[in-house]
Amino acid sequence: MAISQESKDKKKGISNRVNAIKLERGCWHCGYRKNTRALTFAHIHGTTKYRTKTTNAIVDISKMVVLGSKGSRYSEKTIMTEIAKCMVLCKNCHDEYDFPEANVKENIDDISQASLG
Ligand SMILES: [Zn+2]
Repeated sequence: MAISQESKDKKKGISNRVNAIKLERGCWHCGYRKNTRALTFAHIHGTTKYRTKTTNAIVDISKMVVLGSKGSRYSEKTIMTEIAKCMVLCKNCHDEYDFPEANVKENIDDISQASLG
């Protein structure tokens, strides 16, 4: 099925706004803000990740943005609600946050204790 021009424009709009949020915030931990693909939304530990109603599967925000553009499966409101539960972290800091047991050097308590507060 061909994707309409309107849908492509919509996609670009959501994608641009999501990327703007990434660049504006930058990595919460190290301040990186160069490449939008290297910046991710990290769910703050303790928040509940979005799950599909049918399969109960977790859907990444980046995937929501792509799928949300191919129709209206994920509305911008749904995406922004999910983003509100996250901090922006670069890929390195995201892994350090999610897998602190794999850190061999620095103590990253400041990331581990991040909260929405
Ligand atoms: Zn970082």
